[in-house]
Amino acid sequence: MSLQISDKVKTLAAQAQADIRPQFDRIDAIAEENTAKVLAAFQKHRVSEAHFAGTTGYGYDDLGRDTLDLIFAELFHTEDALVRVQFVNGTHAISCALFGALKPGDVLVSAVGAPYDTMLGVIGVVDKGPGSLKSYGIEYRQVDLVDNAPDPAGLAQAVKDPRVKAVLIQRSRGYATRNSLSVEEIGSLAQVVKDNNPHAAVLVDNCYGEFVETIEPTQVGADLVVGSLIKNPGGGLAPTGGYIAGRRDLVEGAAMRLTTPGIGKECGSTFGANRSLYQGLFLAPHTTAQAVKTAVFAARMMELLGYRVDPASDAVRHDIIQMLHFGAPEPLKKFCKGIQFGAPVDSYVTPEPWDMPGYDCQVIMAAGAFIQGASIELSCDAPMREPYTAYLQGGLTYESGKAGVMLAVEELLRTQV
Ligand SMILES: *Cc1c(COP(=O)(O)O)cnc(C)c1O
Repeated sequence: MSLQISDKVKTLAAQAQADIRPQFDRIDAIAEENTAKVLAAFQKHRVSEAHFAGTTGYGYDDLGRDTLDLIFAELFHTEDALVRVQFVNGTHAISCALFGALKPGDVLVSAVGAPYDTMLGVIGVVDKGPGSLKSYGIEYRQVDLVDNAPDPAGLAQAVKDPRVKAVLIQRSRGYATRNSLSVEEIGSLAQVVKDNNPHAAVLVDNCYGEFVETIEPTQVGADLVVGSLIKNPGGGLAPTGGYIAGRRDLVEGAAMRLTTPGIGKECGSTFGANRSLYQGLFLAPHTTAQAVKTAVFAARMMELLGYRVDPASDAVRHDIIQMLHFGAPEPLKKFCKGIQFGAPVDSYVTPEPWDMPGYDCQVIMAAGAFIQGASIELSCDAPMREPYTAYLQGGLTYESGKAGVMLAVEELLRTQV
């Protein structure tokens, strides 16, 4: 029994792999440095079996939970952190961070164009039901991209209003076509905000960016980072959850929103999840590197086939996302189908576009994951709209990610004849 991969695709893959060797050395060096950081934080906080026990009910004095907060704060160089399985996803964590940082009459500014699709309902740009920031009297402004790039001058103008209390910077591109931001670029945007409005908090949607570089946005001026545990920092093992790390008052504000005023970080049982969160974080620098390698391989394969890709296979990476431009719905669907066939779970199903909650057009998603929807596992998704770009990410191991991409290319080529 073996995977059905033609000699043509195998030859192409050998060529791609040879071409991307120099990238792998760079990725390995980053993983090594980040692993050392994580290991040192575990040792400093004397992680032991006792941290994995967990609590039930109210979850008072959950040693594992409280220590993991300290470890995240250590890794992100922040005053405090909030790592919780009670965050249902990344959107929920970002939402709590925003509600914690803003009150009626305040203004939120998005620094790099429209934020991730699901945030539009949270902010109230589109009406997705009651309870948006807008419905609480929080205003929203957006600094649009100029030539598909950040506009520092526009940002400086936008934040001058003293009512601006929070600025959201999204590190990864989401379903936009702009480049993902490097940590350094985030640092300079944060500086623009501080220079023009020292009272505005800089919140970074850090999704897909963790451990791709050796520094994080909170080391270059961001006040808070937020992300999902079923992406990079969960290492593929976290069953659910999200994290927030940053300035103490902002973390506290978010915690009061996640639970309730007066309770904040003190409650929230972990019912056995702590071990997976710790082990996942321990693996996260390595797992993230596997995903980045898979993305680079996919980029090179598609380049060799003549497709436009972003970033290019030889580019320095700032997140785990690979854009593959198909230009038409059919090849995009075929590629996603092939990714699904390459999954360890649900490999026999055919992905179809559907109306996903929180999105304004149909979305196709290929994912055969151990953790439902975990995009640190090999997955490929695309909004079914121009320019029919697929967003490929994840791969728990490079070997399996590579196999998945090869099967996707196989499917793509099959339908072209
Ligand atoms: C994944 C992601 C989110 C959060 O998405 P969830 O599905 O709610 O976890 C937010 N912003 C960006 C840029 C993302 O990639």
